[in-house]
Parts: sequence; C-alpha cells; structure tokens
Amino acid sequence: MGELIKINNLSKSFDEIKVLESLNMQVESGEVVAIIGASGSGKSTLVRCIAGLEPVSGGEILLHDTAVVNTASTNGKIGMVFQNFNLFPHYTVGKNITMPLKTILKMSDDLAIAKAKALLDKVHILDKFDQYPNNLSGGQKQRVAIARALALEPEIIIFDEPTSSLDPELAHEVFETISDLAKEGQTMLIVTHQINAIRRFATRIVFLNQGKIEVEGAPDYIFNQVDHPNLHQFLKQVD
Ligand code: ADP
Ligand code: MG
Repeated sequence: MGELIKINNLSKSFDEIKVLESLNMQVESGEVVAIIGASGSGKSTLVRCIAGLEPVSGGEILLHDTAVVNTASTNGKIGMVFQNFNLFPHYTVGKNITMPLKTILKMSDDLAIAKAKALLDKVHILDKFDQYPNNLSGGQKQRVAIARALALEPEIIIFDEPTSSLDPELAHEVFETISDLAKEGQTMLIVTHQINAIRRFATRIVFLNQGKIEVEGAPDYIFNQVDHPNLHQFLKQVD
C-alpha cells in the first residue's frame, strides 16, 4: 500500500489563465478515485498533468517519490483511457494491443498475441481480435482501449470521461468493465459525469471547482452527508 501519487501545491496556467491552483491530492494503491466537477473546472488538465502529458507551472507531482515531468518519467506506470478511444484505425484490434507490447516491452510475437487475447477475453471481446476498430461499437472500442491500457500493467489507470461519447447502454457496459477492475484492486482515477455509475465502486470522490478541490470523501459522505452548496448545485445538474 502507501502513496502511489502525491500532488503538492500543483498549479497550472495556460498563458495568463490559471486553471489549477495550489492543488494537493494523493492516491494510494488500491483506491478508485472519481474526479467530478463542472465542464472547464480543470479535470482534464489535472489528469493530463498527472500522466505527464502537460508540464506543470508550479508545485510537483510525485509518482512513488519520483517527479512526473513528462510521459517518460512515468515509466509506463500510468495508463490512460480517453473519451475518444484513441485506437489506431488502420490496425486490427489485436494489433492495437500487441504493438505496444512488442515495441515497448520487446515481447515476442507469440507472447504478445497470447497476452492480447487474454486481455480481450477479460473485457469480453476476444471475438473482435481480427476486426478493425471502425467495425466495433463505441462500448467495444472503449473496452479495447482498456485492454490496451492494461497490457502494459500500469500501477494506475486514468480515465478521462471514458463514457461521454457513448449511449447509456454502452456506457453501462464500459462501467461494468471498470467495476470488474475495481473488484480486482486495480488503482484507478476516473474523471466522469456519471455519478450514479461511479458511486457504486469509487472509494473516494473529489469535487473540483474552478481549479481547486472543494470537497472530497467517500461516496456516502459526498452524496448523503456533506453540506456543500457548490457540490449540491453541481450534483443537481448532472443527475
Ligand atoms: P474540464 O476537463 O474540467 O472540462 P479542462 O481541464 O479541459 O476542464 O479545462 C480547464 C480550463 O483550461 C478551461 O478554461 C480550458 O479552456 C483551459 N484549457 C485547457 N487546455 C488548454 C490549452 N491547451 N490551452 C489553453 N487553455 C486550455
Ligand atoms: Mg475534460
């Protein structure tokens, strides 16, 4: 156990615009942390900084005591799943997963294929191995993206609105997959507006407002106990 990610006094600006200010946060191994907040509150910026995709303007992000300054410094320990899947359209589903295994982990063809098949089986789409992403539903595409993220065995997977472009039914199947991972103890950080899906398995919910963490706590605390006007206002809008 222990802290996997520790964020100290993080600030981030784009030109003159301050997006994140003096933000402190930590994630321990085994936690499933949901980040909620209005559009423009800085959720994507925060997770992109954590993944090393954006340079920080101030403060630090530590991953096991090592500062995250770019994607290389995350050393494969952080996996990302995006809203728009980011699959390679000209590669089959299978190759989308075997390629990083071969290029990054230098795995042999046979091992990479076996691992890709096991992962696709885990997300219940082994039959799509030879298909191209464009022949899949959005929910299936997102499950390929999750399998690809899992392939590199990251210590934490960060999801940025993984179901925002999906119909409710397909969003549900993706959340079932994420819920299965939660049961296995996979550490995850999930940005989402789908609070009813996330409250079933998040261990902690963080409410971001205008670049600051305004309130955080267990789902029961966030939904039933805390008296916080901005949070209540936000929850009313998304429900
Ligand atoms: P959220 O994910 O919560 O909707 P974002 O992190 O995407 O919020 O954006 C927070 C603020 O930062 C917004 O005002 C947005 O316009 C701004 N922003 C995000 N990325 C950039 C960028 N690359 N350049 C300039 N401004 C940006
Ligand atoms: Mg966003």
